[in-house]
Amino acid sequence: MKTLLVRYDIDNCADWEKGIPSVVSLLDALSIKATFFLNVGQAFDFKSSLLKFFKTEKQSKTADKISLFTKMGLGSIIKTVLLNPHLISLKPPLGNELIQAGHELALHGGTNHAIWQSQLTELSKKALSELFLPAYKIFSSTFGAPKGFSSPGFAYNKFVLELIEEYNFSYAVDMQASKPFRPKLNNSECSHIQIPATTASKHGVPFIEQQLSKNQSYTEIIKSLLQRINNSDFAVYYSHPSLDALHLPLIADLFKQVRSKGWTILTHAEYADEFKKNL
Ligand SMILES: [Zn+2]
Repeated sequence: MKTLLVRYDIDNCADWEKGIPSVVSLLDALSIKATFFLNVGQAFDFKSSLLKFFKTEKQSKTADKISLFTKMGLGSIIKTVLLNPHLISLKPPLGNELIQAGHELALHGGTNHAIWQSQLTELSKKALSELFLPAYKIFSSTFGAPKGFSSPGFAYNKFVLELIEEYNFSYAVDMQASKPFRPKLNNSECSHIQIPATTASKHGVPFIEQQLSKNQSYTEIIKSLLQRINNSDFAVYYSHPSLDALHLPLIADLFKQVRSKGWTILTHAEYADEFKKNL
């Protein structure tokens, strides 16, 4: 069986308020169940943004990314920088609607996406727990305990793996590989599995974002995605709702064509359950 998982990371208010409604209605129309990793906390941190700004300037323009301005829109950028809301506090409470519609909602980081992404290496285990635990608790009390976890910016370390084990996540999605696997921690096998975002670049940029930044046409993008996943029986489509909401005809056609090539689409939790059954 060829299995495709559909992963969306919800980073900021543009993803949550503008991206989700249109992406979800498209997925529902296509009867596709996706996994949404929700940052319940804040998207912005002043220190992290400065750090990232200088780092990005140094690395120059190599990263095949779409500008934040295009993805989020000016209104959402202003809202993020000035108000920096915790996403969980924003109406509407879309999370429960997603779950009721059969999608999976999982946890993306802690109470601040930017700090996790840019400053993880500076955090002690205690500081990381203080970032993680309030987010885990509010997620669990609002939506039930999450089965899956994704780190902001794919930034993980030993402490992150320890938390994933301590809080009994079934799977996480941070490591790079071509197939899901059981990672090791302190020389023993973890109980969670890692489900890599197989179509992301090594910098974690979604496939369609890379292609769109090179001004590829929708037809070319779909063709190259199909080529990319063709030689495997497992793939993860990974993106952000704010970006995909700007390209709905592309997303619709892409999923239709993937299906017509014999791919079955599952949520991450469904896949993790199957994977563990077959171990
Ligand atoms: Zn993120």
